[in-house]
Amino acid sequence: MNHKEIIQKGDASGNGLIVKFRLPSGLEIVSLPTKNFYGGHWDLGPTWNYVVLADRPFLIDSGRYGQGRHLVDMMRLAGIHPVDLDFVLISHSHEDHDGGLAELVELTDLKIKAHTVYDLLIRQYPDVAPPGYKQRFPAKCWHCFMPESFFKDNCLKYHGVLQALEIQRLGDGSEKIGNNISTRHLPGHSPDSLAVMLGNEAMVVGDVVLPDITPWPTRLEQYDEVVEILRPLYPEASALFGLKRYLQSLKELLQIAEKHPDVLVLPAHRLYYQDRWNAIHLKERVNELIEHHIQRCTAILKIVATETKSADEIARLHFKESLLKGPGKLMAANEIISHCELMLACGDLQEVGTHSYVGTGSENFEKSIQHIPKKENL
Ligand SMILES: [Zn+2]
Ligand SMILES: [Zn+2]
Repeated sequence: MNHKEIIQKGDASGNGLIVKFRLPSGLEIVSLPTKNFYGGHWDLGPTWNYVVLADRPFLIDSGRYGQGRHLVDMMRLAGIHPVDLDFVLISHSHEDHDGGLAELVELTDLKIKAHTVYDLLIRQYPDVAPPGYKQRFPAKCWHCFMPESFFKDNCLKYHGVLQALEIQRLGDGSEKIGNNISTRHLPGHSPDSLAVMLGNEAMVVGDVVLPDITPWPTRLEQYDEVVEILRPLYPEASALFGLKRYLQSLKELLQIAEKHPDVLVLPAHRLYYQDRWNAIHLKERVNELIEHHIQRCTAILKIVATETKSADEIARLHFKESLLKGPGKLMAANEIISHCELMLACGDLQEVGTHSYVGTGSENFEKSIQHIPKKENL
């Protein structure tokens, strides 16, 4: 059992809960959970940012937009001086992880490390951007399905500050970022997802594995929007996007779990939630997530066994009504499309017009998921 020292108590969701974890080797990690504005049925809880107190300490993630200064204040409370940090690493390009980045960097002058795809997709490309109000969006937000009114209220400033950021790129392999510390590219939830391996003792996984909630997968078709930007380095969509790529990342984690069953997993949401700790047993949790996706495919296939249905119709039949309110409806359809893409590739579905599907009678998807190859040399 790892040693936990509470530095500051938080609320029931874990907001503000500053904890110092001490690993058997003596390495210490400090949690700095910052508030998110989401709520209701899609509430994620705070974003758990972490400082790793290695020989050269560094921060992982920066909370959402407006949290930069708060993060610096929390660090000070924990006795950490931002000037002593070597860099900040961004686990992936979602706003709840890099929203506070520009403010943080302005206050601290920290260098930024992130995956190459992050550096490419936070830029504007007016020549290839979708027409209309998305023209000035960073490429990572082109696929966003929130209405224009949401963007005007919440994203305008955030999008503006991303352009000026200078990123030290990390690649797809195991990249050393400290003494016995390396990153691993685990795309699928986001094309630029990174996990940080702290020897064999602990890993900071971002949103790749979460307790309580299932990280949503990207759609393979998101690649088509950014193909001009990514093609020189990534000629295949399947290297970065889609449910299959996400499942492959999970299989990589399974391999780690088999070698190091007691690895401490530090997720970016809900480590503490509803007044309790949610410890993650890596092997168990990854298997649960894989099983969840198999079951969802089974359910979808049943819905479209004899009748063609659109992704929206499948979502309405599959999800609880409470999850379909407001943007929930679009998130649900996104999730359905991810699963249908995988089953299309297995020959279990046929697409009849855009995002409408019907079963072919086969059920190859489960075998296909079980057989997703594991990478060598982990
Ligand atoms: Zn995320
Ligand atoms: Zn997140």
